[in-house]
Amino acid sequence: MKDLYTFDASVKEAYTSYDLVAKAYQNIFQRIGVPFVVAEADSGNMGGSKSHEYHLISPAGEDTLLTCSSCGYTANEELAIGKLSENNKTNNVTINIHDNTNHTSNDNATITQFDFTAFDKEGQLLHNGKATTVTSPGRSINHIKVEKTLRQYLEEQNMMPNDGMLDIMAIQTKSDNDTIVSKQQQPESNHVFIDDSVQSYTISSTALSGGQLVMHGPDHFRTASAGDTCASCSDNNNKNALTTVKAIEVGHTFYLGTKYSKTLGCEFLPTDRQQKQQKQPAEMGCYGIGISRMVATAAEVCHDDRGIVWPGTIAPYRVCIVPTSNNNKELLHLADTIYDTLEDVTLYHVKNRGLFVDDVLIDDRKQMFGAKMADAELIGYPFIVVLGKNALESGMVEVNQRVQGEPNIKHKVPIDELGQWLYERQAI
Ligand SMILES: [Zn+2]
Repeated sequence: MKDLYTFDASVKEAYTSYDLVAKAYQNIFQRIGVPFVVAEADSGNMGGSKSHEYHLISPAGEDTLLTCSSCGYTANEELAIGKLSENNKTNNVTINIHDNTNHTSNDNATITQFDFTAFDKEGQLLHNGKATTVTSPGRSINHIKVEKTLRQYLEEQNMMPNDGMLDIMAIQTKSDNDTIVSKQQQPESNHVFIDDSVQSYTISSTALSGGQLVMHGPDHFRTASAGDTCASCSDNNNKNALTTVKAIEVGHTFYLGTKYSKTLGCEFLPTDRQQKQQKQPAEMGCYGIGISRMVATAAEVCHDDRGIVWPGTIAPYRVCIVPTSNNNKELLHLADTIYDTLEDVTLYHVKNRGLFVDDVLIDDRKQMFGAKMADAELIGYPFIVVLGKNALESGMVEVNQRVQGEPNIKHKVPIDELGQWLYERQAI
């Protein structure tokens, strides 16, 4: 994991730092050359209000992103916003709230219910309650968003501190007339979360024994899904549907605010002498790239039935010299000479590039040529320099350029121009 933290004096400066790092991350993934997307993301337990995920697109991915091919909007499923057409909305939902049971009186909604308990950071019980969520039939509730909204409410009402713990108990789902039994016999509060796909509803809460009834929404409390209309670019005339894509998360950026700096006492004295000299917590950002995960993902995305096809930017070695014979001393000597020349070219340019060293290998194993070529393709060197006997007479080598899912592109290159030729292709 590559980690990075930023500490700033103000929210504005912290956002500037965030944007700079986010841009640098985009440049990194762009330069690697594997298709990637940046998705708006949920900050989850990290706190803060701004967060992006960097994903490599792969059918093997565990994350589901919703994306609009028209405007490029991309967001993690947990955060994505999708508009519903009128016939996907629901009406006339009756919600019965009682102390220990909730149920729908009709089947035109999906209802979930959970109990929750709020503790302070020492584990002292502060508050217990019950929550009911309501959305259209066939849709699922975004419990991450519901939990976030609930937490925010409890903090604002001083029912729990912002370093407290919110424990969500088993979430039960019903989409028919069944009754959901709550273990919370006397909840201190009853929360109802109405998704904005619910156009009209009535609440029956006659048997409440004192627990306060708190309504949240209507808001986008459902999980967006493929086929929903893009909220970013669609209007009445123009409806672009969101689609889902599988992806692997390889990087994440968070704006954290002061959540951790307050707790850890990471404070500074403002330089403005007009202000009272009082310490302030730093505005923090937190950023990470999963290096080993990225390499594994690149291998997953960039391969064919012959092996890996490394993008040149992250290939462990970019050039492999493969002599066609193991016995011809003159040929092996030429291989060594070419190797040394390429290393010299690399060293010559290293000051300009600052990056590429040790990019060339010779496969001098006592193997058959065919086996060595198969291994070179399996390992995925971007360039394979084939050194045949005719190189001694003609002064030419054949460079095989590995291309995903295609036969190698074969280039005839004069030996004395090989260094420059590979340099121009950023191989050395
Ligand atoms: Zn769009």
